[in-house]
Amino acid sequence: MLFHSTRGQDKDKTFEQILMQGLADDGGLFMPDYWPQVDIEYLKNLESFIDVAKYIVPLYTGSSFKKEDVIELLNNTWHNFEEQDLIKITQIKQSTSILELYHGPTAAFKDFGLQLAAAFFNKTLQTQNKTAIVFGATSGDTGSAAIDACKDFDVIKSFILIPHGNMSEIQRKQMTTVQSPNVHPIIVDGTFDDCQDIVKNGFKQRSFLKKNQYLLAVNSINWVRIIGQICYYFYSAIKINKLSKPLNFSVPTGNFGNVFACYAASKMGMPLSKIIVAVNSNDILYRFFKNNDYSKKTVSETISPSMDISVASNFERLIYDFFLNSNSELCNKLYNNFPEISIKLEDSIWKKSSELFLSHSVDDDATIQCMKSFYEQHGFIIDPHTAVAAHAVNRLEEELMNETVILSTAHPAKFPNILRNADLKLKNIPKRLDEVKNKKEVAVNIPSSDKLIFEYIIKHN
Ligand SMILES: *Cc1c(COP(=O)(O)O)cnc(C)c1O
Repeated sequence: MLFHSTRGQDKDKTFEQILMQGLADDGGLFMPDYWPQVDIEYLKNLESFIDVAKYIVPLYTGSSFKKEDVIELLNNTWHNFEEQDLIKITQIKQSTSILELYHGPTAAFKDFGLQLAAAFFNKTLQTQNKTAIVFGATSGDTGSAAIDACKDFDVIKSFILIPHGNMSEIQRKQMTTVQSPNVHPIIVDGTFDDCQDIVKNGFKQRSFLKKNQYLLAVNSINWVRIIGQICYYFYSAIKINKLSKPLNFSVPTGNFGNVFACYAASKMGMPLSKIIVAVNSNDILYRFFKNNDYSKKTVSETISPSMDISVASNFERLIYDFFLNSNSELCNKLYNNFPEISIKLEDSIWKKSSELFLSHSVDDDATIQCMKSFYEQHGFIIDPHTAVAAHAVNRLEEELMNETVILSTAHPAKFPNILRNADLKLKNIPKRLDEVKNKKEVAVNIPSSDKLIFEYIIKHN
């Protein structure tokens, strides 16, 4: 299995190459050359999440790693989860279940993708006898999941830029209390956009790298993260009906990574009814599915901060694979001029979306209302991201046939202020989130300046 870019120029790459590269050289996103097909009869009898992963992951890694080596890696990958089988599925009514993906060390679903990424980074670096710097900016859960996933690998140093602003105190403290010598949280006197600009420049200049050192991105476009997420879609479909009937999945989304993993699972053979693309008031995806209008607007801050985006970076993969039938020339045309020129597909092509997708945009008031009513009806507290997906299901119920799975992407304890606004009180807080509250924060404060931040990295590299 080799990989190629959605824009057609960068191709015939191995898994290891795209793992370490992230974005394709032509600016596109990497895609597998074909969709590997699963053997449903075999898969449906697997019991544990890890067993499912041992079947799925090697379908994508064969160009670089022996199957035995991948299986050994997977035995040691997803660590510090509070659930025996990593994931819990809770049925809340006859036709609806919650897929709890927040039992990992940072209490958000990003642990699934980033722990797998870090394990493969580490294995590659060991084999090539090289080191790496992970450099990223975070507005929510990515930074903490990346830091946690990389903190015990000596060959990887993490420098994560944390903007002042719309992040809960617990989210920030998850990054600033790790106290590992290869983890460097940097609080930047600027916005998330400022931080992203600095990271972009860092990737251009690379002035702070040593010889034989990789610069790694941890944003959601790395294919390895998608692989980790494909596994839990299959797992939930096995647990719910042994892959015998199509399910609906309601996914709270920002960068479309999690939705794309669901689409990928269906292309590999998982029975799928509808995907509900649930967004907050940053609604570019909703506007696309409703009106064929994919135009960039400024980001507004919401109470579901991990979905506050202006463009959905993984969406290019869907445009390419689902709408354009893998026509990289057309994809290149659309994306070369984006965002200056908005994306609007030919009507006949765009209409295809209703085969598979429904979408809804949920504002903050409706999100809080949903958290409250969900608790009243089911005795169960959900976080604001999950509430966006749950509310979308309520609104679209009449259009849904079959059973529905709501993805719960973060533990509610990460958002204490929002729980307070919703008059909700958690009885149990995961131990590690509770501990973080009282730990000492260690982070440097640096103004929003490329030069100062790159100097800091050189000093600590
Ligand atoms: C990152 C994140 C999302 C959005 O995921 P995408 O893959 O970017 O769509 C949703 N909920 C939570 C809690 C997150 O951390």
